[in-house]
Order: sequence, then C-alpha cells, then structure tokens
Amino acid sequence: MECDFELEGMHYEGTCIRPPSEAFSILLQVTLGCSHNKCSFCGTYKDKRFTIKDDRIILSDILFASKYMKRQDRVFLMDGDALIIPQKRLMWILERIKEHLPWVRRVGSYANAKSIRTKSLEELIELREKGLGILYLGVESGSDEVLRKVRKGTSAENLVKMGRKVREAGIKLSVTVLLGIAGREGSVEHARATGKLLSAMDPNYVGALTVMLIPGTPLHDDYMNGDFDLLTEKETLLELREMIAHTDLSRGLFFSNHASNYLPVKARLPKGKQEALDLIDHALAGKIALKPEWMRGL
Ligand code: SF4
Repeated sequence: MECDFELEGMHYEGTCIRPPSEAFSILLQVTLGCSHNKCSFCGTYKDKRFTIKDDRIILSDILFASKYMKRQDRVFLMDGDALIIPQKRLMWILERIKEHLPWVRRVGSYANAKSIRTKSLEELIELREKGLGILYLGVESGSDEVLRKVRKGTSAENLVKMGRKVREAGIKLSVTVLLGIAGREGSVEHARATGKLLSAMDPNYVGALTVMLIPGTPLHDDYMNGDFDLLTEKETLLELREMIAHTDLSRGLFFSNHASNYLPVKARLPKGKQEALDLIDHALAGKIALKPEWMRGL
C-alpha cells in the first residue's frame, strides 16, 4: 500500500493513554476507544466509538515515526485493545513496523479477555514472532462478584485462562488490579481472591492501582448515591497487604508505584514478599509518610 498523506505528524484523536512503562515508546494509535467500553469505573474512552483506524493513516504514522522517532526502540499500539484487530490486519501492522522501524525491539498493546479469546494460541505465537512482545491486561479483581459489579464482562476463571494463553505464547504479560474497587465491605474478599487469581495466572508484572472516581462513570454515580464507599488510606494499605500476602508468583514484579497510589511498593516475588509486607507495616505504623491526597493522579 502506498501512503498518499503528507507526513505532517502523527494522527492522534481524542484522549490517548498508555501504561507508565511505555512513556518513551512510539505511540501508534491504531484503534479508537475500547471494544468493551463498559467498565463502571472507566471514563477513558467514553467520548469515542470503537473503530479500527484506516490502514493508510496507520501507515502514514509509521512512516512519520521512521523519519522522526529513530531513538525510540519500542512501539505501543493505542487505544483500548488493539489486540482485537483481526489477525491479518494486525500482522500487516506489525510487518510495516518491522519494515519501516527496524530498530524497534518490542511492540506492546492493551488487551482484554475478549480480545485474547479472539486469538488462538498459534495466532498469538505468530504475533509474537512479528514483534508483539508485551500485552497489558486489566484484571481489576479476582472476585467474580466484583467483576460482575464493575461490568468487566468476564470471570476470574476466564481471565486466568486468557492470561496463561498469553504467557504460553511467549508474550510478556503485565496486569493491573484495582485497590478499593470492592468498597469497604468486600475489601478482604477482593484482596484474597485477587491474590489467588494472580498466583494462578502468574503474570510477569502486576501493577496495583488505587481506584479514583471519574465524574460521568457509573461508579461515580454509585458513590454519589451512597452505594459505594471509598477506602481510607489505611484501609487501602491493608487491602494491598492482604493482596500481596496471598500472591505467589513464580518470578514476577509486583508494584504499586502508580500516581494513584498512597505508598510506592516494588517487590520482586517470591523473594521480596516479606520485605514488601514489612514496608506496608511500617507505613501502617506511621513510620513512612504517605502520598497526600492532592498529589494522587490517574
Ligand atoms: S476494558 Fe479497559 S479501557 Fe475498556 S472500558 Fe474496561 S477499563 Fe476501560
């Protein structure tokens, strides 16, 4: 395919987000929005109808990057879950990246249970061979009740299956879980069930974020109606402690250093588990200062 666009810049549309670890990557927007777009806490793509961008625009952005982004050796495919793109088209995108950005060492993308289910193990392996090196999966909770309430559209068992499929294909798996998403009453159960899910899934990275209320989302409405409680700082730390205590990874990094968190924790499991628990205990005892509310962000 020829690119008949003037190479005037990248064609970004609407709110664009990427994982913190992709801060220095070439951000290539190949879809708009998220194919699920129903999670009760998420307002990221509420303004976008899910679409796959035109191949000519994608190619134009790759060519622009080939001229002006020669120092960035990673590509992150935005928006919500680029993995949902049909296999043939996604392979075409990865091939164009290989062709025009030969210095790129890794391509990453968000995924969800639905988009992973659309790919067979063989297809995931094919994608890995073309450069797809990491997938970011929002797990949020290991509790089926919480997953149902937040409208995740999947079960804990299915999330484990999908996560293991990604790992089996040799693609790195980074998952996020949400502290505080079960409210006060469900906190302990959420922490334990999430630890259990993570142990069964065994991802390479786990990022624990703290829930933040976004105006316009169903979760925000629940909060305003008194149907959802936000945890205090101390309750959030207790939940994080319980979650880590119940998480056994064969060799993975558990971190809670996102802008939304009160206490940055970085633990290489299984070795660093006790150290992380001790750090949280120190914070609970008031020996470590927590991030003030006004400094927390998305
Ligand atoms: S799957 Fe991710 S991006 Fe889509 S609505 Fe849920 S949290 Fe938001």
